[in-house]
Amino acid sequence: MKRDISPVAPECLHLTRKDMVNTRRNALLERNRQLGRIEAALARMEGGQFGICAQCNGSIPRGMLEADPAMVRCPDCLRIC
Ligand SMILES: [Zn+2]
Repeated sequence: MKRDISPVAPECLHLTRKDMVNTRRNALLERNRQLGRIEAALARMEGGQFGICAQCNGSIPRGMLEADPAMVRCPDCLRIC
């Protein structure tokens, strides 16, 4: 069975084609942003800096890294920002 993936918004959403394009563009931008964060986290791992706050050089708690491995700041520095 072929799945319809055409870029046509359901009429009940009252979206224009421009809305759909903007939504897709924003989704791509977000995906690229996340990819950049992940690549930066991998680079920090390779450089031995993973888990170290980029701002104060303190430790980032394990729980925060488990929730978001791309985290670059400790809780104290996140509060300041
Ligand atoms: Zn910090």
